[in-house]
Amino acid sequence: MVSSNIAVTHASTGLVVADVTRAERISSHVIRITLGGDALADWEHVGFDQWFRLAVPTSDAARFDNLSDRFGVSGYLKYLTLPRSTRPVIRNYTVREFRPDTAELDVDFVIHGGVGIAGPWAERLPVGDTVGLIDQGAGFRHKDAADVLLVGDESAMPAVLGILRDLDRNATGTAVIEVPAADDVQPDEAPDGVDVRWIIRSGGDRPGTRALEEVTALVPAPTVRAFSAGESRLATGARRHLVSGCGVPKENVAFCGYYKLRPDHA
Ligand SMILES: Cc1cc2nc3c(=O)[nH]c(=O)nc-3n(C[C@H](O)[C@H](O)[C@H](O)COP(=O)(O)OP(=O)(O)OC[C@H]3O[C@@H](n4cnc5c(N)ncnc54)[C@H](O)[C@@H]3O)c2cc1C
Repeated sequence: MVSSNIAVTHASTGLVVADVTRAERISSHVIRITLGGDALADWEHVGFDQWFRLAVPTSDAARFDNLSDRFGVSGYLKYLTLPRSTRPVIRNYTVREFRPDTAELDVDFVIHGGVGIAGPWAERLPVGDTVGLIDQGAGFRHKDAADVLLVGDESAMPAVLGILRDLDRNATGTAVIEVPAADDVQPDEAPDGVDVRWIIRSGGDRPGTRALEEVTALVPAPTVRAFSAGESRLATGARRHLVSGCGVPKENVAFCGYYKLRPDHA
C-alpha cells in the first residue's frame, strides 16, 4: 500500500490456499478470477471493501505450505527468507464477491499493461493455478454510515461496489467511480439514496484525475463518512479536499493508495 490509514485485521483462518476454477475477461480492462477449494469454506467474509494478501505463483515450483498465516512485519520477514525460486509474489486484492453456499470467491483484476506480476498472471486466464490468501479485513469501518462519499478508480471498483452493496439501505450520499472504458462499468447494488456517478476517462487522462475533479467539486457535510482509494494521487487528493477543504475529521475518511502510477506514465 502506497499511503493509507486503513486498519488491518486478521481472520483466524490465516493462510487459505485455493485454486483458480474460472477466469474470464468480463470487460476491456477487467479479468474476473473465481477461486474455489475446500479451505474457502472457512473464509470469514466481512464484506464491504474486504481485502487480502494474494500469493501469486510465478512458476510451477511455487510453494504455499511455508507461507505465514499473517503478513505483518514478522510474516513479511519470514517471507523474505524463503527461496526466491519457490516463493510466490504477494499483492493486494479485494473480495469482489464471496458465495458461502459454494465456497467461491471472485476477484476482479485490472489489466494494466504487460508490467508487473499479478495483472499479467490474471491476463493468462490461469485456470488450475493455486494461490494463497491472507485476509486483512475491511478498511471502511463505518458500516452503519448514514451519509457517505466514496471514490475510486478501476482498481478500487471492487471496493466501492462492495461498500455500496453492504451499506445500510437507508444510507444517502455520493459514489464516484472512474473507469478506463464504458464497458468496464458494472452493475451496482447501491442504496436508493446514494447517487452513483460513473466517469469514463479518455485515453490521455492520468488515472484518477477526472474522479478527483468530480470529488473536489463536492462539499459534503463534515459528518460524512468517506472512502477514497485507487491511484495514490486520487486517494490522498480526495482525503485532503475532505479534511482540509470541508472540515471532515481525519478519522471519518478511510483512504488507501492502491498503487502508484509509474513516473513515465503520460
Ligand atoms: C487494499 C488493496 C486492495 C486492492 N484491490 C484490488 C483489486 O481488487 N483489483 C485490482 O486490480 N487491484 C487492486 N489493488 C491494486 C493492486 O494491488 C495493484 O494494482 C498491484 O500493483 C498489482 O500488482 P501487479 O503485480 O500487477 O503490478 P506491480 O508489480 O505491483 O506494478 C508494476 C507496475 O504497474 C503499475 N500498476 C500497478 N497497478 C496498476 C493499475 N491498476 N493501473 C495502472 N498501473 C498500475 C505500477 O505503477 C508499477 O509501475 C488493491 C490494492 C490494495 C492496497
